[in-house]
Amino acid sequence: MPELRLNLISREWVVVGTSHARKPEEFRVRGNDRHHSPEYVKTCPFCVGNESKTPDELLRLPEDGPWSVRVTTNKFPVLEVEGERTRINQGMKRVVTGVGLHEVIIESPRHDTTMALQEPEDVARVIMVYRDRFRSVVDDKRVQHALIFKNHGPDSGTSISHPHAQLIATPVMPQQVRFRVDESMRYFDNTGECLMCATLIDEFQDGKRIVVDTEHFASFVPFAALSPFHMWIFPKVHRPSFGTLPDEHIHDLAECLRLTLLKLYEGLNNPSYNFAIRSLSPFRSRSEYIHWYISIVPNVSRATGFELGTGMHVNQAMPEEVAEFLRGVRV
Ligand SMILES: [Zn+2]
Ligand SMILES: [Zn+2]
Repeated sequence: MPELRLNLISREWVVVGTSHARKPEEFRVRGNDRHHSPEYVKTCPFCVGNESKTPDELLRLPEDGPWSVRVTTNKFPVLEVEGERTRINQGMKRVVTGVGLHEVIIESPRHDTTMALQEPEDVARVIMVYRDRFRSVVDDKRVQHALIFKNHGPDSGTSISHPHAQLIATPVMPQQVRFRVDESMRYFDNTGECLMCATLIDEFQDGKRIVVDTEHFASFVPFAALSPFHMWIFPKVHRPSFGTLPDEHIHDLAECLRLTLLKLYEGLNNPSYNFAIRSLSPFRSRSEYIHWYISIVPNVSRATGFELGTGMHVNQAMPEEVAEFLRGVRV
């Protein structure tokens, strides 16, 4: 019989173990051209040598000589950097001026790589840049929330295949973020524990859904994973904001993320995915009830009208089988 599982962090119900359930290996991408991408593409704005095709450069590492990471403003920003944050209420209309920041983190000078295939020290440098840009944008008084995310592959919504991530800082707190904050606070009021810390303890006690376990971080398939191969990476020690990630944990996080993505790459033949770093701003870093994490969502299934109409999910892969499959992928 199928089972409905409640995801305690998103408060969404997920149906697992239906008659349509598929084995993890059945989600493998067929006929992917992962090995045929060229190192340099003349028309790609992110390739080394094409720096004039990107707008303002905000950061370059190393500063001298050949670069390995660059941060620029987005050429087609969803929000404008110049202007005041103004709120307007007029009858039933609620409006805030579209100010904010939209940056692109170019993660390699090479076109033909991806985070899963990069050297550990290159991924660590990228993580350090994520953290530093995150810290920097939340300093802007107009910013209420900042999100770092990555779209990888043709089914992820990206138009540029060159390895990159984006940072969007918004002048409002997204409803989904506020909801998670409220729910974690409610959990804390009831139990005196952080919901994420308690979730991680439970995952380690169960052990069945852990994928990669490093010194300070762990990746796992949540008990109520919302979709096939949906994974979370949690810091093991309570830490509310990604902005307070200590220097000495950067390498370890990079390894946990790289190995998780590499297992996905090898196990499913380079599927498209999105990831997002869910975090409060460092100004709320004393919060006891919520802690930051990374959510990885491979684009291997599509939502249907049932999901749209109910906010419930049907996950066609059993979380325990997915984790076992990924643990078995040699990297
Ligand atoms: Zn490129
Ligand atoms: Zn915690």
